[in-house]
Amino acid sequence: MNDAYLNFVNSPFGARLASALGLPKPAVLRRYRADRPEFEGWIAVGAGPQPRMLEALAGMIARTGMTGVAHESAGLWISLAQRHAMMTGRFEPVVSGAGGSTQGRMSALLFDASGIEDVTQFDTLHAFFHDALRSLDTCGRIVVFGRPPEACATTRQWTAQRALEGFTRSLGKEARRGVTSSLIYVTPGAEALTEATLRFFLSPRSAYVSGQVVRIDAVAHALPVFDWTQPLAGRRALVTGAARGIGASIADVLAAEGAQVIGVDIPSAKEALDHTMRAVNGTALAFDIAAPETPAQLAAALDENGIDIVVHNAGITKDRTIAKMTGAAWRSVIDINLAAQERIDDALLEAGTLRHGGRIIGVSSISGIAGNAGQSNYATSKAGVIGRVQGMAPHLLDRHITINAVAPGFIETQMTAKIPLAIREAGRRMNSLSQGGLPVDVAQTIAWLAHPGSAGITGQVVRVCGQSLIGA
Ligand code: NAD
Repeated sequence: MNDAYLNFVNSPFGARLASALGLPKPAVLRRYRADRPEFEGWIAVGAGPQPRMLEALAGMIARTGMTGVAHESAGLWISLAQRHAMMTGRFEPVVSGAGGSTQGRMSALLFDASGIEDVTQFDTLHAFFHDALRSLDTCGRIVVFGRPPEACATTRQWTAQRALEGFTRSLGKEARRGVTSSLIYVTPGAEALTEATLRFFLSPRSAYVSGQVVRIDAVAHALPVFDWTQPLAGRRALVTGAARGIGASIADVLAAEGAQVIGVDIPSAKEALDHTMRAVNGTALAFDIAAPETPAQLAAALDENGIDIVVHNAGITKDRTIAKMTGAAWRSVIDINLAAQERIDDALLEAGTLRHGGRIIGVSSISGIAGNAGQSNYATSKAGVIGRVQGMAPHLLDRHITINAVAPGFIETQMTAKIPLAIREAGRRMNSLSQGGLPVDVAQTIAWLAHPGSAGITGQVVRVCGQSLIGA
């Protein structure tokens, strides 16, 4: 639960020793705090030819209060920024040995690649990041916008847009110092649905999310009215496994965003569940999610007011190699981690308990993406969560319900504290940020997917893994 190495190398003596010995120096990640501004500082903006997103982005960045400065590749930016009454200017690169730039370090680098139609048009992509990466602050953000390859009109455009994945993932590995790098594909017509996602990726809320590719689709319906400071106000959220660990943090973050939380956990964890729910003014329901009667009982318990957000977080491990794994260990992991979710969703959807415009979020794992020795049952269940999200998404579109999954990597919890030291240390360090994530990192990612503004994101899996090498 406590990363002693990270604390040590960020002390004055430890920092000197680490640098003398050439040891990795993971940055202390900047995380969201309600008492600090969420968005501040400068964003350098670059663009490829015919940028299609800049107009929408100018309005969104103006609303964050940040200052966007234009790289020479984004000449249009200054007039767009002025139209939105935003402070702006030309980006001044840091030139080593020539005194500092008059601009502070950049909080974020944002590149609009949406108009790139051919790989021969990549020069501005290189020029922007070549000029700007050194200006990016510790824990800065890289965000690239493109078009989903499958929505491209020509195969050349498809190729160029797909190539952006390799680019943004490489910058995540190269930048270090707590910097994250992500690619957002925006379907034509979905530009206005991008704001919640842009905010998430610019914010300290996404501290442990890097190397990710997110697709935003257009939707035919209007978004509900919401307040950016309390986006989940008036919404009810069901969180399973809420007594402790990641589940308790999800309850906490969703409540802070305004949701009324109903937490579920096994009867033997009732005391811890009551404690967690009291802290968030929520309701505790002591149910074993795998019990056959639970789906109907849950639907009945929620029936009067329905539910808007369902987070399937409860999960267990029973690790053994397949030759040593009993049938009971196999079945209980599949049942709790996967089949119970299916039964609960079916019951809530059939009874109409999950309301129109709702959100379902499953908790998968990078084990479900990469597989893991000794975890065939767990990895099967977590890969199944991904399949379920992808398979269910089209069937829920008519109710405006989205279904997505998060796939955590190494998160500092009681579960990972039990891993033997050497394996634990390897798990912690084998990612671009050289450290484990915290439960709140998973919780914040779930809150973004639960956001009313995330209506264009469905059927997707977002890893919360610091760009782990596992399953990369
Ligand atoms: P945890 O063991 O600390 O918490 C899990 C909670 O689920 C517990 O409160 C437990 O009582 C509850 N639960 C278990 N079985 C239940 C059942 N049948 N009915 C109701 N509640 C039940 O685990 P965590 O680390 O907080 O993990 C939360 C989720 O995140 C799990 O799905 C886990 O697989 C996933 N995950 C965790 C990590 C990590 O590094 N910790 C990584 C990837 C995925």
